[in-house]
Amino acid sequence: MDFALSDSLQELLARASAFMEEHVYPLEPIVGEKGFFGATDELEAARKACKEAGLWAPQMPKEYGGAELPFLDHAHLSEVIGRSMLGHYVFGCPAPDAGNMEILLEHGTDAQKERWLKPLARGEIRSCFSMTEPDKAGSNPTWMDTTAVRDGDEWVIDGKKWFTTAADGAAFAIVMAVTNAEAPVHGRASMIIVPTDAPGFVHARRIPIMGDEGEGWMSHSEIVYEGCRVPVENTLGAEGAGFLIAQQRLGPGRIHHCMRWLGLCERGFDLMCQRAAKREIAPGKPLGTRQMVQQWIAESRAQIDAARLYVQKAAWTIDTKGLYEARTEISCIKFFVANVLQEVLDRAIQVHGALGITEDTPLSHIWRHERGARIYDGPDEVHKHSVARRILKSYGLEVRSQSQGG
Ligand SMILES: Cc1cc2nc3c(=O)[nH]c(=O)nc-3n(C[C@H](O)[C@H](O)[C@H](O)COP(=O)(O)OP(=O)(O)OC[C@H]3O[C@@H](n4cnc5c(N)ncnc54)[C@H](O)[C@@H]3O)c2cc1C
Repeated sequence: MDFALSDSLQELLARASAFMEEHVYPLEPIVGEKGFFGATDELEAARKACKEAGLWAPQMPKEYGGAELPFLDHAHLSEVIGRSMLGHYVFGCPAPDAGNMEILLEHGTDAQKERWLKPLARGEIRSCFSMTEPDKAGSNPTWMDTTAVRDGDEWVIDGKKWFTTAADGAAFAIVMAVTNAEAPVHGRASMIIVPTDAPGFVHARRIPIMGDEGEGWMSHSEIVYEGCRVPVENTLGAEGAGFLIAQQRLGPGRIHHCMRWLGLCERGFDLMCQRAAKREIAPGKPLGTRQMVQQWIAESRAQIDAARLYVQKAAWTIDTKGLYEARTEISCIKFFVANVLQEVLDRAIQVHGALGITEDTPLSHIWRHERGARIYDGPDEVHKHSVARRILKSYGLEVRSQSQGG
């Protein structure tokens, strides 16, 4: 593995950093004050500037208006733009749109690409991904109540989903629904593209996250599908391939989440060090003179750097050996980096004292919205379970997976 960054990547990261300083960090207090919809003009101006700077949609092919970065380069960029919760949105690669673009690109028909992917890649519409249900454990994604039943040329979808991120104001949802309950467990569900103005698509509520309801792209919704009808041609990929496509969507997506979290770690780390260097707890005695604070700084540095190397190794494994070979590393970085993020943010908040839990620094917003990092895309325990299962298998012990009822 070569850790040296090419000249062109270094130049790109420097340009992205400068863009963040000029266009993204200044947006944070504006969006904080006006909300996502209230700050539409400012957000759109920043996105336009991003397109003009040639930094838009780094993961997308050039024919879709993207920068077509190689996977590893995009991972590095993700850290730089991940320093702000708004970075990926401004750069045209936010979750859940980025994952939806990937699967539409890979599995969409020409008509689906024309209607959904192109405007999504241009940032003209938003999308969401509707899989988790309130009444079934999301940790076992093969187990769900939502069904899609064929009626002539249409699917009729019934069920309740929640934590459908960014559904508020989205143009379409990619919905996971059981289309054949008799099939083997991994072949029961299909992915279906559902326009949010389809009859029977009911946006029930935005779910407040630790008291913050948010709106638009910055919110999570409960959706009820009440006899929701869409044409059968809205099936994404093969019927019954929903679980397989979801796995494909989550693998590389976890690398991008991890790199984004590392960006947030670095942001928290910077704020912690700045405060430790300036805040005096007695005349002439900044906090950074205290050994306990020094220990937090040193440990955070080591944890962030170790986490980055591990993510790079996982990304390199995906790039050179494929997703299947990288699955243990992907699971390990998912829980490892999410925990580093939580620890670093907690220390940064602690060093700020009461200021740390106000909205006067970005720490509180990041904390509130990234506590979920240890839950979404598979909770810590699920990833640890699957890593340990694979390791124990090599020692002769077969442990059944959660989806097999183990
Ligand atoms: C911020 C955020 C955004 C999200 N966005 C989306 C989205 O856009 N679309 C979507 O469909 N879903 C989304 N989700 C939902 C997410 O995927 C689920 O929350 C996740 O899969 C866990 O499912 P659950 O909440 O039903 O928890 P459950 O499955 O009920 O699990 C509860 C807890 O049980 C424990 N647990 C589970 N399995 C094991 C095990 N094997 N061993 C030990 N303990 C275990 C874990 O601690 C887990 O946290 C989002 C969630 C969050 C927090």
